[in-house]
Amino acid sequence: MKNNDFQLTIGWLYPQLMSTYGDRGNIVILQKRCEWRGIKTEILTIDQATSDQKLKTIDLLFGGGAQDREQEIVMNDLHKKKTVIKQLIEDTIPALFVCGAPQLMGHYYEPAEGKRIEGLGIFDMYTKHPGPRNDRLISNVIAKLEIQNFTSPSHLVPSPYLIGFENHGGRTFLGDSAKPLAKIIKGFGNNGKDGTEGVVYKNALGSYLHGPLLPKNPQIADWLIAKALEVKYKKEIELEKLDDTLEEKAKEILMKKLQVNF
Ligand code: GLN
Repeated sequence: MKNNDFQLTIGWLYPQLMSTYGDRGNIVILQKRCEWRGIKTEILTIDQATSDQKLKTIDLLFGGGAQDREQEIVMNDLHKKKTVIKQLIEDTIPALFVCGAPQLMGHYYEPAEGKRIEGLGIFDMYTKHPGPRNDRLISNVIAKLEIQNFTSPSHLVPSPYLIGFENHGGRTFLGDSAKPLAKIIKGFGNNGKDGTEGVVYKNALGSYLHGPLLPKNPQIADWLIAKALEVKYKKEIELEKLDDTLEEKAKEILMKKLQVNF
């Protein structure tokens, strides 16, 4: 099969309500890195009007950050889509959820004010905001991927350093069965205490990193694309290598600036 025989449907959760700090850049980079390789994409924006039938066509799912108020609005609708979204993740469809999105995929999120928001329970974790007058966790971040979570496709072992920017009030605590995405080198990560950043369940990744995450860390974009192709076409599909010199340089400069040796 040639690359241009491949097609991916990328689901984007509530773009009008969930896209803080340039998170839509993640969608742009997924589209571009597919396009540069001749892989066709379709973006399915998910909102109140999206049917279960449409949701079932998704090959890769993305959700960006949101403020507490928007998270509550989203959740009122997302509960109606719970069965299908949980099934997609169980069926190993790759997903990336950033900041406010993974908070909604855990057991619950307690916002700065108001009542607890029940999550979808995909990730074994919960998140609590310490309240409106308490500090937010704001920082540039460098983290090291827990590389053992990324064993396949075998031609694609992502380079281990993640860079990004975090800005959240919520503190996330992982349950016993949850695996962190990365370990914090600089910054706060999930809660500023235990050194974990993000979460992994099957092929779903949660992270606090904006930046946006995928343009700054294209190895994760490629992993998501390769995984989506593997799951859809039921075989490993080797991705053509792209020139990431500029991205690597940017990473190097940030690491130097934050005095991280690698
Ligand atoms: N409302 C959440 C928090 O403050 C998420 C913020 C975000 O997505 N940037 O923790």
